[in-house]
Amino acid sequence: MKIIVTGGAGFIGSHLVDRLMESGHSVVCIDNLYTGRTSNNAQWIDNPDFQFIEHDIVNPIEMENVDQIYHLACPASPVHYQADPIKTAKTNFLGTLNMLELAKKCSARLLLASTSEVYGDPLIHPQNEDYWGNVNCTGIRSCYDEGKRIAETLSFDYHRHFGVEVRIVRIFNTHGVRMLENDGRVVSNFVVQALKGIPLTVYGDGSQTRSFCYVSDLVQGLMLLMNGNYIGPVNLGNPEEYTILQLAQTIQRLIDPTAELVFKPLPQDDPQRRQPDISRAKFNLGWEPKVPLEEGLSKTIAYFRELIASQST
Ligand code: NAD
Ligand code: UDP
Repeated sequence: MKIIVTGGAGFIGSHLVDRLMESGHSVVCIDNLYTGRTSNNAQWIDNPDFQFIEHDIVNPIEMENVDQIYHLACPASPVHYQADPIKTAKTNFLGTLNMLELAKKCSARLLLASTSEVYGDPLIHPQNEDYWGNVNCTGIRSCYDEGKRIAETLSFDYHRHFGVEVRIVRIFNTHGVRMLENDGRVVSNFVVQALKGIPLTVYGDGSQTRSFCYVSDLVQGLMLLMNGNYIGPVNLGNPEEYTILQLAQTIQRLIDPTAELVFKPLPQDDPQRRQPDISRAKFNLGWEPKVPLEEGLSKTIAYFRELIASQST
């Protein structure tokens, strides 16, 4: 198949590109390199079945004979999506509109990478897909949260109105190899800080919770969703829930038990609890994550250890 991956030079997208190329598909990566890197696709660049197009999806793009579009392009870390919030909103609205138009023209199936952020600061726990969410539409996270909500709306309207085949996934916090060192998300921050001997920055009192999925589990779920009959929305994430303080202590133990913790103010609208209910994914996709937190963290830590060592040589 000819498959587009928008955001394919980014963290999750590049792992997906790997899996699709290994499966023998022809892959077109579309990315503006805002948080992505060409080095993430370097292993495929000489392969005739791989094409990289540097393109900003807020602008339309013409292509032919596309079978599937995995639509992942959008910065995922609060630090990056809040740096230019209007651009983030445009990427989610115009970018998704452009990709749905392309899917319509090519009769391609489109998988939208949505997010647990559509649940906002959730009032039910764990979060299942029937929950409509508790999102502040004027806050600093709304460019992303509301952007993803309108992207879901557009996808369902293209499906209802034009018969475009869509798949909607709500991804929960994911970590792994190829995260950016300056990504700003909690796992990369804590790991890089512990490896560099800098105090780990816990925001608030660390009692807020998250559930961390390893990237290989997530990518497998994306491919099952794309190639199955279930439209979604479907949660994909690891249901093991940890407080941020527990995460900091686990990373301390794995890297440097003497590492210090420093408490910083909690960012505005930071969700207090987050844990996916993955019953739908289990029932409809036969999917559940296999990699426990510490096993995934060990891989992420080994990656950053090597990266940091290579910088000092
Ligand atoms: P990432 O920032 O590593 O990757 C995003 C990619 O999209 C980058 O390569 C970036 O350059 C590209 N991009 C951004 N804006 C673009 C634009 N306007 N045009 C073209 N390319 C653009 O993030 P990620 O963690 O790999 O996330 C991928 C997707 O998964 C995102 O849509 C994100 O919202 C979603 N998601 C991720 C997580 C997570 O924990 N990583 C959680 C929920 C949802
Ligand atoms: N966080 C933290 N220290 C950091 C970065 C993040 O304590 O250095 C907290 C953040 O306030 C949030 C949680 O960790 O409560 C997850 O943050 P992240 O940005 O990784 O993801 P998101 O908030 O989008 O789930």
